[in-house]
Amino acid sequence: MLRRRSPSKKPPDGRAVDRALDEAHDENFIEPGRLLFAGPCEFIFASAKAGDLPPLGPPEIAFAGRSNVGKSSLLNALTGRKALARVSNTPGRTQQLNFFALGATPGEEPLRLVDMPGYGYAAVGKEKIANWTRLMEDFLRGRASLVRVFVLIDSRRGVKDLDEQMFDLLDRAAVSYQIVLTKHDELKVSEREAAVAAVEAALAKRPAAFPRLAVTSSRAGDGVAELRAGIARLLAERSA
Ligand code: GDP
Repeated sequence: MLRRRSPSKKPPDGRAVDRALDEAHDENFIEPGRLLFAGPCEFIFASAKAGDLPPLGPPEIAFAGRSNVGKSSLLNALTGRKALARVSNTPGRTQQLNFFALGATPGEEPLRLVDMPGYGYAAVGKEKIANWTRLMEDFLRGRASLVRVFVLIDSRRGVKDLDEQMFDLLDRAAVSYQIVLTKHDELKVSEREAAVAAVEAALAKRPAAFPRLAVTSSRAGDGVAELRAGIARLLAERSA
């Protein structure tokens, strides 16, 4: 006899099922992700002005966000070392695009990380902002090796005007980007779902935004292995 479904049981929401399948697939990349970030990570290039970029090489993943969002902490957590963010935070380097090569074999690195200068310092003048925008546009437009930009958003603050401007820039450049929520440990468990939903709502009409967020806490270590896995998956799918 066929069992009748209980009428109270809702049919599964298609999007939720897709998401669960996608997340389950990411699980397969946890170990490749760990290996990808386990090797050396060398500073290779700083770009301070438009037109001054390193020659195209391995695939690149870039990290952007307002200053204090937790970008240095996340890069340290991803790479398991402090040197990377130390280079980017050296005086004079904070307004540059800093390029790092992952992997031991020069010329055959699997990946480059690009630390984009933090935005939103209260005191920067118009000219500096114009320079920053030119540098970003120059990098983002037509950089064939750029696979994805991760835009970091502080879980407690949510999406602010300057973040929206960053999304505008990325949409105009048609660069794929994904939001990474940082400092998730600072939210109460009861606040977490709403924080994710609010950021997802801000992205709903953004053509170049990846619909799934990465939720992280560098302090607690949450979401870091999953972010590495997501990056390993991107690389695997790109070369497939
Ligand atoms: P950056 O300016 O974006 O590079 O941000 P930093 O990584 O320097 O972090 C800015 C501040 O946020 C520092 O005081 C960090 O200790 C703090 N922070 C960074 N990540 C986390 C996190 O995951 N949880 C919490 N609670 N604080 C964090």
